[in-house]
Amino acid sequence: MEFPKRFVYEAANTWPCILFFGAIHGNEPSGTLALQKLQQQLNQGELTLIKGELHLVPIANPQAYQEKKTFIDANLNRIFCPSLSPRSYEQHLANKLCSFVDKCDVFVDLHSLQAEWQDFLYQDYATPACATLAKSSGVDSVINWWPQLYETIDSYDTLQYAHSKGKACVLYEAWQHDDPQSVDRAYHLIRNILHHYGLILYEQCTPPSNKQTIVMTDIIFKKEEWHFVQPRKQFDVLRKGEAIAVYDSWETLYAPKDCIMIMPSEKTPLGTDRYYLGKKW
Ligand SMILES: [Zn+2]
Repeated sequence: MEFPKRFVYEAANTWPCILFFGAIHGNEPSGTLALQKLQQQLNQGELTLIKGELHLVPIANPQAYQEKKTFIDANLNRIFCPSLSPRSYEQHLANKLCSFVDKCDVFVDLHSLQAEWQDFLYQDYATPACATLAKSSGVDSVINWWPQLYETIDSYDTLQYAHSKGKACVLYEAWQHDDPQSVDRAYHLIRNILHHYGLILYEQCTPPSNKQTIVMTDIIFKKEEWHFVQPRKQFDVLRKGEAIAVYDSWETLYAPKDCIMIMPSEKTPLGTDRYYLGKKW
């Protein structure tokens, strides 16, 4: 069984400890490639750690990464908690990865998107520490309150675990999985965060800010095949009563209120999340 490797870099003053994960989902290589670029610069002395501890796990799900699959047995970002008797490959990984999270102060999980959506950050917890971390990333759009939507579902993600251990935490969704720009965006985000926490110097850093925060209010599951009434983009503004999608059975889905479209996808499998609705913070 192949386990994830963690690479540790330390300065004299070891606070804070920042941990990055790449490839929790094996088909999302941008975080991995961005972290490997950073590692190369640290190893060759092009980049110096001024303070703190930097923990890098470029490939959190090695087997899925090798096979370019989201996961092997189970979605690692839905079962992310320690288990006493792990059965699936991902449960074994979760045990190892949770122990890495336990040791950090700040945790960043790097993902990418399946469609051409604008990149964004999940800042699921409204603590001052999480807000500071989200701002330090310089990412324009932040989405909030995923946990409340999923609280009735038996699901455990990386942020939920990190938050339960008192860590500042965010999850970044870069652009499309294989878009080279996703690597550049992830790399820029990593360096922004490290600069603002004082671990490195980064002259091109974005000042700490987020332009918009969107609160997720609804998940719409795909119960049968459907199509959008018109092409929808990430963060499109919808008016109450506007038609969104039509099922093959001709049932139409309307916007229940003035809201914002989040991750509109026609390609997800039946029974899974299809799109989300939100509102401005
Ligand atoms: Zn992902």
